[in-house]
Amino acid sequence: MLQGIEMKDTDGFAHGFDPDKVRRKYLQERDKRLVAGLAAIRDLRTDHHFARYRRDPFTAYRDRAPLTDAVDVAIVGGGMAGVVAGAQLRKAGARRIRIIDEAGGVGGTWYWNRYPGVMCDVESYSYLPMLEDLGYIPKNRYAFGDEILGHFEAIAAKYDLVADALFHTRVDRTEWDAASSRWILRTDRRDEIAAKYVVMAVGILNLMKMPVIPGMELFRGKSFHTARWDFEYTGGNTHGGLSKLSDKVVGVVGTGASGIQCIPHLAEASEKLFVFQRTPSAIGVRSNRPTDAGFAKDLRPGWQRERMENFQAVILGIPVESDLVADGWTRHFAPTYRYPRDPAWTDEEYEKRVEAFDFDVMEEHRQRVEKIVEDAATADALKPYYRYICKRPCFHDEYLQAFNAPNVELVDCPAGIERVTEDGLVVQGLEFSLDCIVYATGFEAETTPFYRRAGHEIFGRNGVRLAERWNEGPRTLFGMMSHGFPNLFIMPCPGQQAVVTVNHTLITVEAAEHIGAMVGGLEEKGVAAFEVSEEAEADWCETIVSTHVDSSPVMSLCTPSRLNHEGNPSALSPLAGSYGGGMGDFFAFKKLLADWRESGAFAGLVLEE
Ligand code: NAP
Repeated sequence: MLQGIEMKDTDGFAHGFDPDKVRRKYLQERDKRLVAGLAAIRDLRTDHHFARYRRDPFTAYRDRAPLTDAVDVAIVGGGMAGVVAGAQLRKAGARRIRIIDEAGGVGGTWYWNRYPGVMCDVESYSYLPMLEDLGYIPKNRYAFGDEILGHFEAIAAKYDLVADALFHTRVDRTEWDAASSRWILRTDRRDEIAAKYVVMAVGILNLMKMPVIPGMELFRGKSFHTARWDFEYTGGNTHGGLSKLSDKVVGVVGTGASGIQCIPHLAEASEKLFVFQRTPSAIGVRSNRPTDAGFAKDLRPGWQRERMENFQAVILGIPVESDLVADGWTRHFAPTYRYPRDPAWTDEEYEKRVEAFDFDVMEEHRQRVEKIVEDAATADALKPYYRYICKRPCFHDEYLQAFNAPNVELVDCPAGIERVTEDGLVVQGLEFSLDCIVYATGFEAETTPFYRRAGHEIFGRNGVRLAERWNEGPRTLFGMMSHGFPNLFIMPCPGQQAVVTVNHTLITVEAAEHIGAMVGGLEEKGVAAFEVSEEAEADWCETIVSTHVDSSPVMSLCTPSRLNHEGNPSALSPLAGSYGGGMGDFFAFKKLLADWRESGAFAGLVLEE
């Protein structure tokens, strides 16, 4: 049994829980949001009118001459995955490593996400990778964005990944050249880089989501996305102090993780703030605090991996001696995801208990709203009515309080915003005049196919396009390599045949170490090129498909979200699953990779010496 979980009484239901009534309410709320076109988004790479939203406001763009050269490894993407992979490849002996990124520096999502209040909702001691390598202890239990970005910069500096990096550079085409056994990468700066290995570390939250709302192009005021915060306009910095907003009426669209973190700062600074909410998030307790002075004293080598794995075990419902992280993820998310099961229960009894527990958790969140928010109508609108598993939970201790400020108004619009005018936003025929619109509309879902996240064409052996080969779902070995694409690694991502970890750092670190060790081993053997055999790939795909768990019966009852394909959960291909089904069996996956490496046989790969 999981720690800290109060098992239900014999009928499995909490006092006062009427399952039918709750289900009806949840479905009513879901249906308000099942609106045609609700999930429509813009493709900012082709939508020229809105392409300006992607511009980098943080680092000046500098001209440079095109470059033609050869490297050992090209890493597409300088976010967490790219930097950690680069560090492991460096450790494995790779000399010429070139990171290429559209941003003006490393950091990926943490480079772009500098909005006021930005922080990570996974505890810092597990989220910031390679703490032991860097000899660094995070300042707080939950890290703010600037500390995270600084940490990636420190890893990149330590492993000498910056001098050769190409920033403000977009890879436009990656193509295998069989004659030279090299990948050729072409960029928007007319660079041509030959690389023996390529690591695709393009990110899981790299495509800014800009909704399609009629009239968006008409707005004459200021507008920007949270991932490109305009501090020149607002004043202040990533910790707040948005002094230039004191005479501005601001509208923020979106109340997900980004929205809830910047709203308290907007509330404090704006003359008037309208919060446009489509679906209320479940806002759990954050309880951030400075790192205890004694924290580092008792740590033994290997502590960070142990801590990350402890968290992962709790999330997967695996018994642990003590829950080291002990927060909303382990207290609420873990047991709603994997409720402890008594073997005597039938499936139906079990599901009843899971639902009752989920209800309790959501009730706790709804009661929290009621306790904090003074205006009854606002409090009502802020209460989330869906199962906890339906949306990624949020955690904050100042967000709900912001609605008690006299200058803050919640505009509840479950069916979305009707249109944008020259002057503001219209909801149910009512126009809200605004000086500024902040789109806190997030990113395309993590399950967005890799080739779309990569944002460019990848041509493998015989000119085969990866987008075409994967058009029915990913085809890989271990979620990281694909037949027809020699010497190419793809960093793991949800829906890509590896495993999912709530703390994405864990799977990233695991994969980076695997790739580092593989490249080290291949080089030692003098291999010119490796390729996944057709059979090995087919076997892996079969393994993934055979453990596929169809979550659509439960997820279709959910309010639309990134987790259920915006109300269309059956849209995900069974190929887009994890090793072990559901989020996947991290520990079995880790062992499988370790055994595979240890055997030294490179099973399932065809090696060209
Ligand atoms: P998000 O969770 O996808 O939230 C986007 C928000 O915009 C939602 O409230 C959504 O409403 C709203 N929205 C989207 N289109 C809209 C439209 N047309 N009209 C009105 N509202 C619209 O995005 P996010 O907050 O940036 O988070 C993205 C991911 O990054 C999440 O997985 C999150 O966990 C992660 N993240 C984490 C942190 C952290 O660790 N603290 C910080 C930032 C981001 P609906 O809910 O109705 O769709």
